[in-house]
Amino acid sequence: MRIARFTVDNDLHFGIVEGEEGAETLRVIAGDPFYSGIEPTGATYPLEQVRLLSPMIPRSKVIGTIANWAGTEAPASPQFFIKPNTTVIGPGDPVTLPEYSESVSPEGELAVIIGRIAKSVPLERVHEVIFGYTIANDLTARDMLETDVQWTRAKCFDGSTPLGPWIETELDTDSLNITTWVDGDTVQEGNTADMHYSVAELVSAASEIFTLLPGDVLLTGSAPGATVLRDGQEIEIEIEGIGSLITRVRDEAN
Ligand code: MG
Repeated sequence: MRIARFTVDNDLHFGIVEGEEGAETLRVIAGDPFYSGIEPTGATYPLEQVRLLSPMIPRSKVIGTIANWAGTEAPASPQFFIKPNTTVIGPGDPVTLPEYSESVSPEGELAVIIGRIAKSVPLERVHEVIFGYTIANDLTARDMLETDVQWTRAKCFDGSTPLGPWIETELDTDSLNITTWVDGDTVQEGNTADMHYSVAELVSAASEIFTLLPGDVLLTGSAPGATVLRDGQEIEIEIEGIGSLITRVRDEAN
């Protein structure tokens, strides 16, 4: 099942995405699916008539993962960092480049959405705490990775985690192609089979450090490949089995 969060005439809804690609409709559900289950209200809208938002705003955190793909040396254990929930934007929102950086790059990543309170989850029970999956762009000010000791400026600026277009609740994540394009040019290309640590291993390891809450998001890392984003460019990230997250860059100075 695919679940989207969207507005129609400024009213906020969650809905089930149905229909063929290019002709999808949204069946409105009552309340917030993270807390009140899936209850259709009877209302439906064509996808083209709504504004898609980030499928959720994480209640407490976005967890990022580094060095998790073939092409980098595998770390001895999963390596995480934290992005505040103010980094999250949706498919229709502009990507704003921070003034302090000359080198912001997109990172197309599979995002895991946590569905329940979870602490110290063993590998075999990770599936019980996952609500679903979406597409993330872990935007990174790469020049700040070079100059700064901490990664706050590099990873945590406003809008640095576009998410969407919706949550897919049923997905086998063992072998999914992930491709990132900027204005139609391929900048990253990989398959989740190339990840050093699997989704289950990442969620289990993160839950050893801190409690995961419903709506928390764990990013699983990106394939190698960097490009410098410029004003007006379109970023498209496609993940097999989910769809495409498309956003556009707007320079803060303009
Ligand atoms: Mg990343």
